[in-house]
Amino acid sequence: MTALDVHKSFGDNYVLKGIDMTVKRGEVSCLLGPSGSGKSTFLRCINHLETIDSGRIEVDGEVIGYREHGDKLYELHPREAAKQRENIGMVFQRFNLFPHMTALENITCSPMFVKGEGRAEAKRSAIDLLERVGLADKADSYPSELSGGQQQRIAIARALAMKPDLMLFDEPTSALDPELVGEVLDVMKSLAETGMTMIVVTHEMGFAKEVADTVTFMDGGQVVEYGSPEEVLVRPQHGRTQAFLSKVL
Ligand code: ADP
Ligand code: MG
Repeated sequence: MTALDVHKSFGDNYVLKGIDMTVKRGEVSCLLGPSGSGKSTFLRCINHLETIDSGRIEVDGEVIGYREHGDKLYELHPREAAKQRENIGMVFQRFNLFPHMTALENITCSPMFVKGEGRAEAKRSAIDLLERVGLADKADSYPSELSGGQQQRIAIARALAMKPDLMLFDEPTSALDPELVGEVLDVMKSLAETGMTMIVVTHEMGFAKEVADTVTFMDGGQVVEYGSPEEVLVRPQHGRTQAFLSKVL
């Protein structure tokens, strides 16, 4: 994923003020910053859930959300943007599972109804994914019968069922009771070990230090500091990064 000088306003609210960011294939990149700094907006721009005002975002060399013609960008038809989005999985703070569907049905529904996979094949992959997230025994449970940590692991499995090239996580553990955070981070860590490209908005510093290849600190819609976890989290150069870290650590 490459973002080049991405700008975004909501009316008078100038939210992204020229974001540059590169995440190489297979890398895990953690994004942190105070509330309101534009992290969620930026993630949503990466899969074109939000338009951008200028700049560009590419995933695997393809411009997201726009078609290039001469030196101008034209917004893609929603159908084409949806097609690009199939390759980009997203996991939100709230689990967003369909409440009337079992864990298995939550995982099989997009492969079947969006990609046209057959039921048997979708079910086979879903069972593999349930095993990967440690919930093989919960296939027939409804979300209301699962803990928050289990629901979030199902949400990760559901995103993976579309076989994405890039996974975006927006504070995936911040709505969880503390004792459930670890099981979700463990699933994310094992996903990272498979070589998945991941952009993770999180304030879990232990995870960022252990798993991230790069860390980006954002404040006020700008990238303040970028580097290895060691550089950004242990020896931050900027006062704003230092002040933020002293509050979250
Ligand atoms: P963060 O995730 O870092 O907390 P956000 O990206 O959620 O920050 O928000 C950044 C700013 O953008 C905030 O001022 C927020 O109110 C504003 N914002 C986010 N989404 C919208 C929206 N859909 N419409 C209007 N303003 C929005
Ligand atoms: Mg946010």
